Amino acid sequence: MSNIRGKIIEIKRFAVHDGDGIRTTVFLKGCPLKCLWCHNPEGISFAPQLAYYENKCISCGECLGSCPAGAHRMGENGHIFDRALCAGCGKCEENCLGEALKHYGKDMSVDELLPMLLEDKEFYENSGGGVTLSGGECLMQAEFCKELLKKLKENRVNTAVDTCGFVKREAIDAVMPYTDIFLYDIKAFDEDVHIKCTGVSNKLILENLKYIDSCGKDIEVRIPYVPDFNSDQIEKIAELLASLKNITKVRVLPYHNYAGSKYASLDMKNTLPEKLPSAEEVKNAERILSEKNISVF
Ligand code: SF4
Ligand code: SF4
Repeated sequence: MSNIRGKIIEIKRFAVHDGDGIRTTVFLKGCPLKCLWCHNPEGISFAPQLAYYENKCISCGECLGSCPAGAHRMGENGHIFDRALCAGCGKCEENCLGEALKHYGKDMSVDELLPMLLEDKEFYENSGGGVTLSGGECLMQAEFCKELLKKLKENRVNTAVDTCGFVKREAIDAVMPYTDIFLYDIKAFDEDVHIKCTGVSNKLILENLKYIDSCGKDIEVRIPYVPDFNSDQIEKIAELLASLKNITKVRVLPYHNYAGSKYASLDMKNTLPEKLPSAEEVKNAERILSEKNISVF
Protein backbone atom coordinates (compact mmCIF):
# COMPACT_ATOMS: atom_id res chain seq x y z
CA MET A 1 0.00 0.00 0.00
CA SER A 2 1.21 3.47 -0.81
CA ASN A 3 -0.97 6.46 -0.08
CA ILE A 4 1.61 9.03 -1.10
CA ARG A 5 -0.07 11.47 -3.50
CA GLY A 6 1.11 13.42 -6.52
CA LYS A 7 -0.20 16.28 -8.68
CA ILE A 8 -0.80 14.92 -12.17
CA ILE A 9 -1.21 17.01 -15.31
CA GLU A 10 -2.07 14.19 -17.66
CA ILE A 11 -1.56 10.48 -18.34
CA LYS A 12 -0.73 9.74 -21.96
CA ARG A 13 -1.07 6.13 -23.14
CA PHE A 14 0.66 4.75 -26.25
CA ALA A 15 3.31 7.48 -26.22
CA VAL A 16 6.14 6.87 -28.68
CA HIS A 17 8.35 9.94 -28.14
CA ASP A 18 9.12 9.60 -24.43
CA GLY A 19 11.70 6.83 -24.52
CA ASP A 20 11.94 3.48 -26.31
CA GLY A 21 8.94 1.48 -27.45
CA ILE A 22 5.32 2.03 -26.55
CA ARG A 23 5.02 3.81 -23.23
CA THR A 24 2.59 5.44 -20.85
CA THR A 25 3.81 8.88 -19.84
CA VAL A 26 2.75 10.41 -16.56
CA PHE A 27 3.13 14.21 -16.60
CA LEU A 28 3.57 15.72 -13.14
CA LYS A 29 2.79 19.31 -12.28
CA GLY A 30 5.28 22.01 -11.29
CA CYS A 31 8.55 23.12 -12.87
CA PRO A 32 11.42 25.31 -11.57
CA LEU A 33 12.27 26.59 -15.08
CA LYS A 34 10.46 29.06 -17.28
CA CYS A 35 11.65 28.20 -20.78
CA LEU A 36 10.57 30.84 -23.26
CA TRP A 37 9.59 28.10 -25.73
CA CYS A 38 7.74 25.90 -23.21
CA HIS A 39 5.10 23.79 -24.97
CA ASN A 40 3.64 22.52 -21.68
CA PRO A 41 2.76 25.80 -19.88
CA GLU A 42 0.20 23.85 -17.84
CA GLY A 43 3.18 22.13 -16.22
CA ILE A 44 4.88 25.25 -14.83
CA SER A 45 2.73 26.04 -11.80
CA PHE A 46 2.42 23.44 -9.06
CA ALA A 47 -1.11 24.67 -8.33
CA PRO A 48 -4.06 23.02 -10.10
CA GLN A 49 -5.38 25.03 -13.07
CA LEU A 50 -8.43 25.05 -15.29
CA ALA A 51 -7.88 25.69 -18.98
CA TYR A 52 -10.81 27.33 -20.78
CA TYR A 53 -10.96 27.11 -24.57
CA GLU A 54 -13.47 29.85 -25.36
CA ASN A 55 -13.72 28.86 -29.03
CA LYS A 56 -15.04 25.41 -28.06
CA CYS A 57 -17.69 26.66 -25.64
CA ILE A 58 -21.24 26.09 -26.93
CA SER A 59 -22.83 28.05 -24.05
CA CYS A 60 -24.86 25.02 -22.96
CA GLY A 61 -24.67 26.17 -19.31
CA GLU A 62 -23.94 22.65 -17.98
CA CYS A 63 -20.96 23.92 -15.99
CA LEU A 64 -22.92 26.49 -13.98
CA GLY A 65 -24.29 24.13 -11.34
CA SER A 66 -21.12 22.12 -10.91
CA CYS A 67 -18.89 24.93 -9.67
CA PRO A 68 -18.93 25.47 -5.89
CA ALA A 69 -17.18 28.82 -6.38
CA GLY A 70 -19.67 30.21 -8.91
CA ALA A 71 -16.99 30.83 -11.51
CA HIS A 72 -19.31 30.06 -14.43
CA ARG A 73 -22.33 32.20 -15.29
CA MET A 74 -24.42 33.13 -18.29
CA GLY A 75 -24.33 36.64 -19.71
CA GLU A 76 -26.26 38.26 -22.54
CA ASN A 77 -23.93 36.73 -25.11
CA GLY A 78 -23.57 33.32 -23.53
CA HIS A 79 -21.23 31.66 -21.05
CA ILE A 80 -18.77 33.72 -18.98
CA PHE A 81 -15.89 32.18 -17.01
CA ASP A 82 -14.54 34.23 -14.10
CA ARG A 83 -11.04 32.86 -13.54
CA ALA A 84 -10.52 34.96 -10.40
CA LEU A 85 -13.14 32.83 -8.62
CA CYS A 86 -11.81 29.46 -9.81
CA ALA A 87 -10.12 27.29 -7.17
CA GLY A 88 -8.95 24.72 -9.72
CA CYS A 89 -10.92 21.81 -8.24
CA GLY A 90 -11.78 20.39 -11.68
CA LYS A 91 -15.41 19.55 -10.85
CA CYS A 92 -16.81 21.40 -13.87
CA GLU A 93 -14.64 19.60 -16.44
CA GLU A 94 -16.66 16.41 -16.61
CA ASN A 95 -19.94 18.28 -17.22
CA CYS A 96 -18.65 20.34 -20.11
CA LEU A 97 -20.46 19.29 -23.27
CA GLY A 98 -18.21 21.32 -25.57
CA GLU A 99 -14.94 19.96 -24.12
CA ALA A 100 -14.02 23.59 -23.52
CA LEU A 101 -12.74 22.93 -20.00
CA LYS A 102 -9.61 20.97 -19.11
CA HIS A 103 -8.36 20.45 -15.60
CA TYR A 104 -4.64 20.15 -14.91
CA GLY A 105 -3.41 19.07 -11.47
CA LYS A 106 -5.39 16.02 -10.42
CA ASP A 107 -4.41 14.67 -7.03
CA MET A 108 -3.71 10.91 -7.25
CA SER A 109 -2.11 8.30 -5.00
CA VAL A 110 0.45 5.77 -6.19
CA ASP A 111 -2.09 3.03 -5.50
CA GLU A 112 -4.70 4.73 -7.70
CA LEU A 113 -2.26 5.30 -10.53
CA LEU A 114 -0.46 1.95 -10.61
CA PRO A 115 -3.31 -0.25 -11.95
CA MET A 116 -3.87 2.22 -14.81
CA LEU A 117 -0.20 2.03 -15.75
CA LEU A 118 -0.11 -1.76 -15.61
CA GLU A 119 -3.06 -2.06 -18.02
CA ASP A 120 -0.73 -1.73 -21.01
CA LYS A 121 2.04 -3.96 -19.68
CA GLU A 122 1.68 -6.34 -22.61
CA PHE A 123 2.29 -3.48 -25.06
CA TYR A 124 5.37 -2.39 -23.12
CA GLU A 125 6.78 -5.91 -23.18
CA ASN A 126 6.12 -6.48 -26.87
CA SER A 127 7.61 -3.14 -27.94
CA GLY A 128 10.51 -2.69 -25.51
CA GLY A 129 8.58 0.16 -23.89
CA GLY A 130 7.45 0.99 -20.37
CA VAL A 131 6.44 3.95 -18.24
CA THR A 132 7.97 7.43 -18.35
CA LEU A 133 7.61 10.07 -15.63
CA SER A 134 7.72 13.55 -17.10
CA GLY A 135 6.33 17.03 -16.47
CA GLY A 136 6.66 19.90 -15.67
CA GLU A 137 9.59 18.61 -13.64
CA CYS A 138 8.58 15.28 -12.15
CA LEU A 139 11.45 15.26 -9.62
CA MET A 140 9.91 18.22 -7.81
CA GLN A 141 7.68 15.43 -6.46
CA ALA A 142 10.57 13.04 -5.86
CA GLU A 143 9.03 10.97 -3.05
CA PHE A 144 5.94 10.28 -5.15
CA CYS A 145 8.13 9.37 -8.14
CA LYS A 146 10.27 7.08 -6.00
CA GLU A 147 7.26 5.16 -4.67
CA LEU A 148 5.68 4.88 -8.11
CA LEU A 149 8.90 3.76 -9.81
CA LYS A 150 9.52 1.24 -7.04
CA LYS A 151 6.09 -0.33 -7.60
CA LEU A 152 6.65 -0.38 -11.35
CA LYS A 153 9.96 -2.19 -10.91
CA GLU A 154 8.26 -4.70 -8.58
CA ASN A 155 5.98 -5.37 -11.55
CA ARG A 156 8.95 -5.68 -13.94
CA VAL A 157 8.08 -2.56 -15.97
CA ASN A 158 10.83 -0.58 -17.72
CA THR A 159 11.04 2.94 -16.28
CA ALA A 160 12.27 6.29 -17.59
CA VAL A 161 12.54 9.65 -15.80
CA ASP A 162 12.38 12.73 -17.99
CA THR A 163 14.07 15.61 -16.12
CA CYS A 164 15.38 19.12 -16.69
CA GLY A 165 18.07 18.34 -14.09
CA PHE A 166 17.44 21.48 -12.01
CA VAL A 167 16.72 19.44 -8.90
CA LYS A 168 18.43 18.58 -5.63
CA ARG A 169 20.89 15.68 -5.69
CA GLU A 170 18.71 13.88 -3.13
CA ALA A 171 15.84 13.80 -5.63
CA ILE A 172 18.05 12.04 -8.18
CA ASP A 173 19.38 9.64 -5.56
CA ALA A 174 15.84 8.83 -4.47
CA VAL A 175 14.73 7.60 -7.91
CA MET A 176 18.04 6.28 -9.27
CA PRO A 177 17.67 2.65 -8.03
CA TYR A 178 14.26 2.32 -9.72
CA THR A 179 15.01 4.15 -12.98
CA ASP A 180 16.26 2.32 -16.07
CA ILE A 181 17.07 5.45 -18.05
CA PHE A 182 17.10 9.20 -17.55
CA LEU A 183 15.79 11.38 -20.38
CA TYR A 184 17.81 14.53 -19.72
CA ASP A 185 17.18 17.97 -21.22
CA ILE A 186 20.15 20.17 -22.11
CA LYS A 187 19.03 23.59 -23.26
CA ALA A 188 22.31 25.51 -23.32
CA PHE A 189 25.96 25.17 -22.33
CA ASP A 190 26.72 28.81 -21.58
CA GLU A 191 25.27 29.91 -18.28
CA ASP A 192 24.21 33.37 -19.51
CA VAL A 193 22.33 31.85 -22.45
CA HIS A 194 20.64 29.37 -20.13
CA ILE A 195 19.56 32.12 -17.73
CA LYS A 196 18.19 34.19 -20.62
CA CYS A 197 16.18 31.27 -22.02
CA THR A 198 14.97 29.55 -18.84
CA GLY A 199 15.36 32.02 -15.98
CA VAL A 200 17.87 29.85 -14.07
CA SER A 201 21.57 28.96 -14.11
CA ASN A 202 22.57 25.62 -15.63
CA LYS A 203 25.40 24.89 -13.16
CA LEU A 204 23.33 22.44 -11.12
CA ILE A 205 21.94 20.86 -14.31
CA LEU A 206 25.39 20.13 -15.73
CA GLU A 207 26.66 18.88 -12.35
CA ASN A 208 23.71 16.50 -12.04
CA LEU A 209 24.24 15.25 -15.59
CA LYS A 210 27.87 14.40 -14.82
CA TYR A 211 26.80 12.80 -11.55
CA ILE A 212 24.24 10.49 -13.19
CA ASP A 213 26.81 9.59 -15.82
CA SER A 214 29.39 8.78 -13.13
CA CYS A 215 26.84 6.43 -11.51
CA GLY A 216 26.77 4.39 -14.74
CA LYS A 217 23.11 5.08 -15.54
CA ASP A 218 21.88 5.23 -19.11
CA ILE A 219 21.06 8.77 -20.24
CA GLU A 220 19.21 9.88 -23.35
CA VAL A 221 19.87 13.58 -23.89
CA ARG A 222 17.27 15.86 -25.44
CA ILE A 223 18.23 19.21 -26.92
CA PRO A 224 15.43 21.59 -27.91
CA TYR A 225 16.63 23.49 -30.96
CA VAL A 226 15.39 27.09 -30.94
CA PRO A 227 16.78 29.47 -33.58
CA ASP A 228 18.35 32.66 -32.21
CA PHE A 229 18.02 31.38 -28.63
CA ASN A 230 20.17 28.26 -28.19
CA SER A 231 21.10 27.39 -31.77
CA ASP A 232 24.70 28.55 -31.25
CA GLN A 233 25.16 26.14 -28.34
CA ILE A 234 25.28 22.81 -30.19
CA GLU A 235 29.08 22.62 -30.60
CA LYS A 236 29.67 23.21 -26.91
CA ILE A 237 26.97 20.75 -25.89
CA ALA A 238 28.48 18.18 -28.27
CA GLU A 239 31.91 18.66 -26.62
CA LEU A 240 30.39 18.07 -23.22
CA LEU A 241 28.43 14.97 -24.24
CA ALA A 242 31.47 13.47 -25.97
CA SER A 243 33.28 13.55 -22.62
CA LEU A 244 30.61 11.43 -20.90
CA LYS A 245 30.39 7.62 -20.88
CA ASN A 246 26.74 6.66 -20.61
CA ILE A 247 24.92 8.75 -23.19
CA THR A 248 22.90 6.16 -25.11
CA LYS A 249 21.64 8.66 -27.68
CA VAL A 250 20.77 12.28 -28.31
CA ARG A 251 17.60 13.69 -29.79
CA VAL A 252 17.49 17.17 -31.29
CA LEU A 253 13.95 18.44 -30.80
CA PRO A 254 13.04 21.13 -33.34
CA TYR A 255 11.11 23.94 -31.67
CA HIS A 256 7.44 24.24 -32.65
CA ASN A 257 4.83 26.79 -31.64
CA TYR A 258 1.72 24.59 -31.39
CA ALA A 259 1.20 25.52 -27.74
CA GLY A 260 -0.04 29.06 -28.41
CA SER A 261 -3.70 28.21 -27.67
CA LYS A 262 -2.70 26.58 -24.37
CA TYR A 263 -1.25 29.87 -23.10
CA ALA A 264 -4.49 31.67 -24.00
CA SER A 265 -6.65 28.97 -22.38
CA LEU A 266 -4.72 29.36 -19.10
CA ASP A 267 -4.62 33.17 -19.32
CA MET A 268 -0.81 33.03 -19.32
CA LYS A 269 1.53 35.36 -21.18
CA ASN A 270 2.60 33.69 -24.42
CA THR A 271 6.41 33.71 -24.56
CA LEU A 272 6.81 31.43 -27.60
CA PRO A 273 9.49 32.63 -30.07
CA GLU A 274 8.29 33.35 -33.60
CA LYS A 275 11.07 31.81 -35.64
CA LEU A 276 10.88 28.10 -36.40
CA PRO A 277 13.95 26.03 -37.31
CA SER A 278 14.44 24.84 -40.87
CA ALA A 279 15.07 21.15 -41.61
CA GLU A 280 18.63 22.10 -42.71
CA GLU A 281 19.39 23.77 -39.39
CA VAL A 282 18.24 20.71 -37.45
CA LYS A 283 20.21 18.38 -39.73
CA ASN A 284 23.27 20.54 -39.23
CA ALA A 285 22.89 20.33 -35.43
CA GLU A 286 22.60 16.54 -35.72
CA ARG A 287 25.70 16.45 -37.92
CA ILE A 288 27.73 18.40 -35.34
CA LEU A 289 26.74 15.86 -32.69
CA SER A 290 27.39 12.84 -34.95
CA GLU A 291 30.87 14.13 -35.73
CA LYS A 292 31.68 13.72 -32.04
CA ASN A 293 30.65 10.05 -32.32
CA ILE A 294 27.44 10.72 -30.43
CA SER A 295 24.55 8.48 -31.45
CA VAL A 296 21.83 10.79 -32.77
CA PHE A 297 18.26 9.53 -32.90
S1 SF4 B 1 -12.25 24.05 -11.60
FE1 SF4 B 1 -13.62 23.99 -9.80
S2 SF4 B 1 -13.57 26.09 -8.99
FE2 SF4 B 1 -12.73 26.18 -11.09
S3 SF4 B 1 -14.48 26.69 -12.39
FE3 SF4 B 1 -14.32 24.43 -12.36
S4 SF4 B 1 -15.66 23.76 -10.68
FE4 SF4 B 1 -15.30 25.96 -10.42
S1 SF4 C 1 -20.25 23.35 -19.98
FE1 SF4 C 1 -18.54 23.82 -21.35
S2 SF4 C 1 -19.50 24.25 -23.31
FE2 SF4 C 1 -21.10 24.40 -21.76
S3 SF4 C 1 -21.16 26.56 -21.14
FE3 SF4 C 1 -19.78 25.53 -19.74
S4 SF4 C 1 -17.74 25.81 -20.65
FE4 SF4 C 1 -19.24 26.23 -22.26
